[in-house]
Amino acid sequence: MAYIFEIENLEKSFGSNEVLRDINFKVEKGEVLSIIGSSGSGKSTLLRCINLLEEPDGGKIKYHGENILDYISINNYRTKVGMVFQSFNLFNNKTVLENCVVGQVKVLKKSREEAVRVADEFLKKVGMYPFRDAKPASLSGGQKQRVAIARSLAMNPEVLLFDEPTSALDPEMVNEVLNVMRSLAEEGLTMLVVTHEMGFARDVSNRVLFMDKGVIAEDEDSKEFFANPKTKRAKEFLSMVL
Ligand code: ADP
Ligand code: MG
Repeated sequence: MAYIFEIENLEKSFGSNEVLRDINFKVEKGEVLSIIGSSGSGKSTLLRCINLLEEPDGGKIKYHGENILDYISINNYRTKVGMVFQSFNLFNNKTVLENCVVGQVKVLKKSREEAVRVADEFLKKVGMYPFRDAKPASLSGGQKQRVAIARSLAMNPEVLLFDEPTSALDPEMVNEVLNVMRSLAEEGLTMLVVTHEMGFARDVSNRVLFMDKGVIAEDEDSKEFFANPKTKRAKEFLSMVL
């Protein structure tokens, strides 16, 4: 099996704070990984390194066998590896439709007509087509996040990274976003999801990376991780969140 990602000995510090230490894992096509662990354990930094929003200090991030830290242009890579943020990061002065069109036209150099066709397709998929002409300010958090997911999907990524996509949402809106993510997982999209939603981690993702103080303390099949955590820290973490 060829891997999409092979992360080798990844390191990242902020000053004297060693945030990621000797991170190693591989991702196969179609896998859904949940990255869980306490606040400050390095989950966001790991995703941000994978998307090159942070520059690692050492190690390799191989994407289809090539170390992306050797790439000269990262724009092509960024279109293949999309990211969905806790805070949505929509363009608030643009309509829902324009949010989903602009990247396709500017980065992928598509015609506007084709970009609108693709945007509408993904807005339908996340249930936001009726809101295509609305501005983000008029939407709920759950609706904004579904637009952000449609915008990412419209770039035709191979992998989507999610950093706590439901953490900013009111509880009644969490499921509408998780349901979209579940359907993407069922369709075989490769996803790395930092999440506090333990139901998603156990039932939707097939693997769990449990992070503790900058290291991957467990890398385990998700059912096995929840049924039988091996480390003391994972047991403590689960006893707090379940
Ligand atoms: P998590 O997402 O698991 O809560 P983070 O990756 O956000 O953890 O943070 C891990 C550690 O790195 C924390 O100690 C945090 O304060 C620190 N950190 C994260 N980003 C920065 C930054 N840009 N500058 C300095 N320190 C940072
Ligand atoms: Mg975080």
